[in-house]
This record gives sequence, C-alpha cells and structure tokens, in this order.
Amino acid sequence: MGDRIDVIQGDITKCNVDAIVNAANTTLLGGGGVDGAIHRAAGPRLLEECRSLGGCPTGQARLTQGYDLPARWVIHTVGPVWSGGRRDEDGLLAGCYRSSLALANGQGVESIAFPSISTGAYRFPVERAAAIAVEETLRFLTGTTPPDRVTFVCFDLHTYECYRSAVERLAGGRPS
Ligand code: ADP
Repeated sequence: MGDRIDVIQGDITKCNVDAIVNAANTTLLGGGGVDGAIHRAAGPRLLEECRSLGGCPTGQARLTQGYDLPARWVIHTVGPVWSGGRRDEDGLLAGCYRSSLALANGQGVESIAFPSISTGAYRFPVERAAAIAVEETLRFLTGTTPPDRVTFVCFDLHTYECYRSAVERLAGGRPS
C-alpha cells in the first residue's frame, strides 16, 4: 500500500495532479498560508465559485474547479484548530482526510495531493497530524481506487521528515 503514497517537500500549487487539497477555513473565502497560495495561483474565479458554496463545517470537504492551477480540481477541507486535544481535534482531522478522499473517489480523481492540514496557523502538532493523515489514507486506500496515488506535499523540512517517518512506520515501507 505504501507504493501508492508519496511524500515530497514543495509547493502544492505547482503539483501536476488531478486534485489538490486546500487547508481552508469554514467560510471558504480564502485566508493565509496554503489557502492564500492556492487562491493566488488559481485566480479570482476560484473565490467566485467558493462564494457560491456557503462555507464548510470543520472536518468536511467541498469540491471546486482548479482554474489556473495545473490541478483540475481543488478539494477544500477545514481542519480543526488545535486547542489541547480535548475537542475531538483528532477525529475532526481524520474526517478531513476521509471526506477529501471520498470526494476524490466520487469524481474519479486518480492522483491527489494533500498539504499538512491544520499544522500551520491552526497549530496542530505535526507528528500527531502526520500519523492521522497517513492512517486515514491507508485505511481509505485499502480496497479502494480511485485515487490510485496520494502525495503529501510538505512545505518545510521538519514537516517532510514527520510525514516520511509516519509512512515508513505505518505503511511498512519507504514512501515511493
Ligand atoms: P492551517 O490553517 O490548516 O493550519 P496553514 O496553511 O496555516 O493551514 O498551514 C498548513 C501547512 O501548509 C503548513 O505546514 C504550511 O507550512 C503549509 N503550506 C503553506 N503554503 C504551502 C504551499 N504553497 N504548499 C504546500 N504547503 C504549504
């Protein structure tokens, strides 16, 4: 299963995949971090489509087109704000991966790239988030295609190392 999962360090807006995932907020109207970068790269039509969606609850996901991005689709998901771990942050983060992958599956998306949801402005501890991301992805991919390929795109080295070691530990091998 590990051969269907990749970990790279880079900028998700440059990824040549069918769908990229956005770490959005509940308004879906744009923000900082990866959200801002995706809106800048996709152009103003993305915000226009997002406005028509009426927001998204934490732990769920919504699909839009990718407009000027190389990716055809953007899946917007809303991660939990970390507040110590007693507000079901783990369960909500797992929900982000599950619902994003389910949307991708329904759309026939073969390749999908995720950023490290919630570990920037939302302060979720990276090691813990990486384990949840990899566990949920493995669970989903078992017996399910599409997507055939999942890439975790990490912006900084520390995040990259956390996701790499989560894949090695949980998928029983090195990421391809
Ligand atoms: P959240 O609000 O869910 O915490 P952030 O965008 O603040 O979302 O951070 C999530 C992760 O995305 C962080 O690791 C951040 O460094 C990373 N990030 C920021 N810009 C990009 C980008 N262009 N491509 C990939 N990851 C990015």
